Formats: sequence, structure tokens, C-alpha cells
Amino acid sequence: MAVIKPMIRSNICINAHPVGCAKDTEHQIEYAIAQKAKRGIKTAKEGGYAPKNVLVLGCSTGYGLASRIMAAFEYGADTIGVSFEKEPTVNKGGTPGWYNNKAFDRAAAKSGLKSTTFNMDAYSDECRKTVIDEAKKWGIKFDLIIYSLASPVRTDPDTKVLYKSVIKPVGKPYGGWAIDMMSEKLNKLEAQPAEGDDIPNTVKVMGGEDWERWIKYLSDADVIAEGCRTLAYSYIGPKYSQPIYREGTIGEAKKDLEARAKNIDACLKKIGGAAYVSVNKALVTRSSSVIPVIMLYLGCLFFVQKKAGTHEGCKEQIDRLFADRLYTADKKVPVDSEGRIRIDDWELDPSVQAEIDKHMEAITEENLREHIDIDGIRKDFLNINGFAVDGVDYEKDISDMTAID
Ligand code: NAD
Repeated sequence: MAVIKPMIRSNICINAHPVGCAKDTEHQIEYAIAQKAKRGIKTAKEGGYAPKNVLVLGCSTGYGLASRIMAAFEYGADTIGVSFEKEPTVNKGGTPGWYNNKAFDRAAAKSGLKSTTFNMDAYSDECRKTVIDEAKKWGIKFDLIIYSLASPVRTDPDTKVLYKSVIKPVGKPYGGWAIDMMSEKLNKLEAQPAEGDDIPNTVKVMGGEDWERWIKYLSDADVIAEGCRTLAYSYIGPKYSQPIYREGTIGEAKKDLEARAKNIDACLKKIGGAAYVSVNKALVTRSSSVIPVIMLYLGCLFFVQKKAGTHEGCKEQIDRLFADRLYTADKKVPVDSEGRIRIDDWELDPSVQAEIDKHMEAITEENLREHIDIDGIRKDFLNINGFAVDGVDYEKDISDMTAID
């Protein structure tokens, strides 16, 4: 029996609160249900334009979890999810996504929505086979496939070689201030440039090779419905993060993902389908919290967008992606000149960026709160690990780390 407190060092939280994670997932579900009513969304069963059978790869946290929640609870879809999370035992905690999945499956069952979640390595062919077998067992074909994997490693299914991805600048070091979210101290951080095979290895992990393989396997197994759409998520970001993100190793991987979307699109066109990359907004995640400048930028972004009334988290982004981009009244998907869906439009709005510039220039350790929404980024950071979630009694002893009540 113990009370669980967050264990945080240098912006990394190494434990999760089971009840907090479940509650945070439930809050997202409540939002999806409220948006369904507010927007007057009709599910396919209600005669609406909506997905029926959705596969989410990377379903347990961040954008993937929000996508699964919106697909199910706003649009009424049955879902199969895949993620790779550490399972808890009675005495030892698991990773946040494990609890999120458990809460999702429980809520789906209560609402009469079908759901199966596989805790497997999505990069393996064994996982592809498992998902295909499940789809055949259900007697369904997928009409929406979301690819939302984010991982530091990937084993190539053919060669069994393990590749590692890194977030590094290319050509020269990249330095800048980082903020410690708990102490509110600023530290100078410097990331060294990519060396050796850092770029091809990062492309191998975070590029589009695996996404393409998924679609090929699903297509060969005939579990893709006519008109099916598939989406993978990307990021472009502001000038501050260009050297470490878009022009860095991860940016090369994202460019590969975007290029491969075109191959996948050509393959799906034959059955009236399409593949898209959706460029999403920057959010607080486990990896963004340890990259120089990013948390400072995020703090400013939250500050400015909250003031302007345009702030969004994962759930708001994906709600807008579904309603204003994917399932529109005229059934057309608005894209940019490169064929990408843009829901980072409010983040990159020139007036928002101009406002951020003013704040970024003026920040010091003494005046942080005049320029940064420190409470907002800290709450999001804690929330993704199940802490500081509204409606949770954190003084309550937890006797079973596998339970979410
Ligand atoms: P996340 O870390 O919250 O989620 C990653 C998911 O991938 C989890 O469900 C995890 O279990 C799963 N996963 C990792 N390795 C796996 C494996 N081997 N097998 C099965 N599942 C595995 O990440 P996120 O921030 O939601 O990012 C998702 C996508 O969105 C990424 O492509 C990312 O680049 C993109 N994106 C993120 C941001 C951001 O600020 N977070 C912004 C724009 C785009």
C-alpha cells in the first residue's frame, strides 16, 4: 500500500499514476462525447459520414490515443489499437499508455463499441499478422488507418537489425535555453550534430518504411475497405526549432514519411482511398521535454494561444482534424500545396508567431511567468503520467498497480 507521487528528474517522469492515467483518458472521452453533441456528428450507424472500423498504430498516448478516442466516442467507430507499453504487476507500475488503454477498452465496452488492444511491437510482421487475423475474425475491413508511432528504436523485420533514432541537428551543434519545469530554472543545453549513420538510422525508425509495409500487408490480406484513408502525423514548427527538428535528423525522417505518403496514396487510389500526412501542433510529450528550446517555445506558445483563445491540446487538435479536414460536409479533404493536411495552422499563424517572438526575446529566469504559461506546460507534463489530473484523490493508497479505480 502506498501513495504514489511523481518521480521527476530533469524533465523526465519515471513513474505513472494508474488512476490518474485512467481519469485523464476518461476526460478525453467526455470531451469527445460532448463534441459529438455540440457538432451534431452522426455516426455511420446513425446515417452519418463517419469511419466504421479504425486501426490505430500507436494508440496508447498522445496523438494516437486522441485519434482513437475521437474515432470511437465522437464518430462511433469500432477500433483495433496497437501500442507497446510496459505491463504493471500488482507491486510494480506500468507505463502510462498501459493504463490509458485499459481505461479506453473499459469505456468502449460500456458504450457498446467494439475494441481490441494489442500490446505488441508494431514494427514486427507478427504484429501485422495478429491485426489481420483480428480483422478477419471481426469480419471487417478498415476504412481509417492512423499511423502514430513514435519510438527511439525499430527492429527491421527482414534483417532483424535494431536501428536507433536520435534528435540531433545536422552540420553544427544546436544550443539554447531549456527550462526545468519543476524548479523553473533555465539551463543552457547543447545538442551535438548528427554523426555516422545517425541520419539514415533515424529515417529507418521514424520515416515511412514501416507505414508503407503496414498498408501493403493489410492490402494483400484484403482488409482495407474501398475509400479507406490512412494518415501519419508530422511536425514542421517555427524558426526556433528548425535546426533541431525540421532541418535535423528527425526532420529527415519526416520528409521520408511525407514522400512515402505519395506511394501509399497511389496504392490506395486504386480502391478510391487516399494517404495523407497531417502536420500537427507541438505539444508537451515525453520527448519534447528534453530538447533544448522546445519547452521554452511551448511555454510561450501556450501563453500566446491561451490569450488569443486558440490554444489546443491533443484532443482539440484531433477533433478539428476529423471535423474540419477528414469528415467534411462536401467530403473533400483540404490540403496545402504539398498535399499535406495542416492542423498546425493556428500555431504557425504569423500573428501568433510575431507575439511569440516578443516573448522569446524578453524571457529571463526572473520574469518567466510574464512570458511563459509555466503552469500550463507543467500540468500537461504531469497529466501525461497521470499526475495533477482533476478529480483524482492523490492521497489515496494504491494497493494494486494493475487496477485503475
Ligand atoms: P507518443 O510518445 O505519445 O505516442 C507514441 C505511441 O507509439 C505510443 O502509443 C507507443 O506505445 C507507441 N509505440 C512506440 N513504439 C512502439 C512499438 N515498437 N510498437 C507499438 N507501438 C509503439 O507520441 P506522440 O507525441 O503522440 O507522437 C505521435 C506522432 O505524432 C509522431 O509521428 C510524432 O512525430 C507526431 N507529432 C507529434 C507532435 C508533438 O508535439 N508531440 C507534434 C506533431 C506531430
